[in-house]
Amino acid sequence: MKQSLFVYNTLTRQKEEFKPLNAPHVGMYVCGPTVYSDAHMGNARTYISFDLIFRYLSHLGYKVRYVRNITDAGHLESDADEGEDKISKKAKLAKLEPMEIVQKYTVGFHEVMQVLNILPPSIEPTATGHIIEQIELVKSIIAEGYAYEVDGSIYFDVEKYNQKHNYGVLSGRNLDDLLNNTRTLGGQEDKRGKLDFALWIKAKPEHLMKWTSPWSIGFPGWHLECSAMSRKYLGDQFDIHGGGMDLIPTHHTNEIAQNEACCHTNPARYWVHTNMLTVNGQKMSKSLGNSFLPHELFSGNNKILNKAYSPMTVRFFMLQAHYRSTLDFSNEAMEASEKGFKRLMNAFNLLDGLKAGNKTEVEIEPIRNRCYEALNDDFNSPVLIAELFEATRIINSVHDGKMVIDEKNIAELKALMNDFVIDILGLKNEQAANDELPRVVDFIVNLRSEAKANRDYATSDKIRDGLQKVGIQLKDSKEGTTWTKI
Ligand code: AMP
Ligand code: ZN
Repeated sequence: MKQSLFVYNTLTRQKEEFKPLNAPHVGMYVCGPTVYSDAHMGNARTYISFDLIFRYLSHLGYKVRYVRNITDAGHLESDADEGEDKISKKAKLAKLEPMEIVQKYTVGFHEVMQVLNILPPSIEPTATGHIIEQIELVKSIIAEGYAYEVDGSIYFDVEKYNQKHNYGVLSGRNLDDLLNNTRTLGGQEDKRGKLDFALWIKAKPEHLMKWTSPWSIGFPGWHLECSAMSRKYLGDQFDIHGGGMDLIPTHHTNEIAQNEACCHTNPARYWVHTNMLTVNGQKMSKSLGNSFLPHELFSGNNKILNKAYSPMTVRFFMLQAHYRSTLDFSNEAMEASEKGFKRLMNAFNLLDGLKAGNKTEVEIEPIRNRCYEALNDDFNSPVLIAELFEATRIINSVHDGKMVIDEKNIAELKALMNDFVIDILGLKNEQAANDELPRVVDFIVNLRSEAKANRDYATSDKIRDGLQKVGIQLKDSKEGTTWTKI
């Protein structure tokens, strides 16, 4: 790509040219979900945003190692090391093993990622799989003099750290401000300073998930896992670290402090943060009770929804906003996105039937260049989509015989739509998928009839049960076999 890519860096509060440390390799770490409940649409927004970044960097030819963790231990109910571990609490309430909770919600999270066509990361490490690395990190931070022990728990000494470093480097706030605006909560008597945070927490006897360490039987603080796992898989310093903006003041601020303390460097060159999905202007969040789940959106089964929306309509809705702008959910906005997405895909489906003329009234290359310009300007997906609607207008005009373009430009139009709509925006042609389904099922049902005719009942049953599992029910009668979607 001739033009340069510019990325907004939260650390420097400006757009900077993207220069990977070790091109063509790019290391990217994104904080993953805490798997104690279903991922809601707000979480999905953040992962769609990073999926776009992952896809675009890959399209540009970078070899991206994308690490997105699963938080399966250590995330307490409050950011101030207060309350119970979210997963343990849920496990106790449901009378299940914590790992049953982890398994259930990890599987659910993957299903949501898949229907929204979010590519899997290159590595998906878990906090519980990296306890040894986290303990080693705590040892290094203690050795550097930035942590202290109180009764088996280890705390990070923020004020001491700030004497040599800038603790508020990411949030842009200075320590005095932070100290004046932080309340001292009950139960934190162990800490020397109000901003100190736990690296290792001694477990109370009833705590379910705990490990042996040099200090106590306990569990790691939440911020530690990302420092340990990003370092293990991407090195002391890598290119991009991301997550939602709500992670800036505490989780990412503390992660930077931990890495600076043990490895003498900020772990990432570019800190990238997505803005929030809101409902009536309020952040969508489990604790505020205004969140809804992706499958509720796909089925329309939630009182705030007027109807159901397809997964790709939802993805398109998210991509129509820039990742650093807030995006407010409303039925009206979803309906507008549904219309827009249909218009884009209807044009996409006309591409194969377009007839070439012997002259061209419009060149496609300038549109392709403007698409790159949009994405090179901090992954500006709404501007990109506006350019794709320009391409849509051309496709429709050529199809209606109101415009003539030659074979070269038709080929460029097809390549443009394939690259930007399918590969980079990650939108799928749902219409085509639905059109093909009956033909595919009919084909399989015929195979089964052949097996039955050959008295191969094992194969025939296997096909019936397999179809049942993917939601297709067969009904045998004297007239033959019919099928329905369940
Ligand atoms: P959690 O499972 O709560 O740790 O969140 C997982 C990711 O989703 C984090 O990067 C959060 O910043 C992000 N997130 C949470 N709520 C929202 C929201 N309403 N809009 C966008 N991202 C969110
Ligand atoms: Zn994290």
